[in-house]
Amino acid sequence: MFIDSHCHLDFPELLAERESVLALMRANQVSHALTISTTLKSFPAVRAVAEANANMWCSAGVHPDEQVDDHEPTVEELLEMAAHPKVVAIGETGLDYYRLVEPLDWQRERFRIHIRAAKACGKPLVIHTRNAQADTLRLMQEEGAAEVGGVMHCFTESQAIADAAMAMNFYISFSGIVTFKNAKELKEVAKAVPLERMLIETDSPYLAPMPYRGKRNQPGYVKHVAEHIAELRGISVEDVAKATTANFFRLFAGAKA
Ligand SMILES: [Zn+2]
Ligand SMILES: [Zn+2]
Repeated sequence: MFIDSHCHLDFPELLAERESVLALMRANQVSHALTISTTLKSFPAVRAVAEANANMWCSAGVHPDEQVDDHEPTVEELLEMAAHPKVVAIGETGLDYYRLVEPLDWQRERFRIHIRAAKACGKPLVIHTRNAQADTLRLMQEEGAAEVGGVMHCFTESQAIADAAMAMNFYISFSGIVTFKNAKELKEVAKAVPLERMLIETDSPYLAPMPYRGKRNQPGYVKHVAEHIAELRGISVEDVAKATTANFFRLFAGAKA
């Protein structure tokens, strides 16, 4: 059994295909999924997906790139969202200097607010980082993110960044990117990260793994991420499934199988 630790099932392209998405999960032995919040506005829809499916949970948070809400989230607001029993994590949050340019003080402040909320409710963080390694680690350190831990999702950084995050109690989650031919350095990281620190995800509807690259992604495809990691490490896919599933339930303690 595989678990997709990060997907966006409230996005229209997946919501519209609900039944076939669930059917492929079953066919590919993807037993559970964590659907991730990206805006305050869309949170009720994210939560509704988790409420409608016994094998799904959700997070509460605002993506670092998102600017559709009419105000910045407050710690109190995030705590209110996170109080729901189906909410097992805070995020996705973090820093993204790829799509947006400075001044990004608001983005760093938003990240700090999420870390404070996570510490206040004791739920782990789902962290997104792109072109912002140094600041991401610095803010995690300054705000004491290690106290709750979490996951560096859709990991594309170096081994040094993975090590720094693991030292702060974080798991490393690999997406379909690890299956891409040109992701040479990332494949090395996927070989080196201890199995007991690893999660797998799709980040669907984006980033479909090989052999579906360029197509609409979905949670059922997380199986291909696991297969590729197993191949890289020279172990069985069952071992990858077993470890990443156990890790999921250890990290997201609010999720019960
Ligand atoms: Zn992300
Ligand atoms: Zn995401």
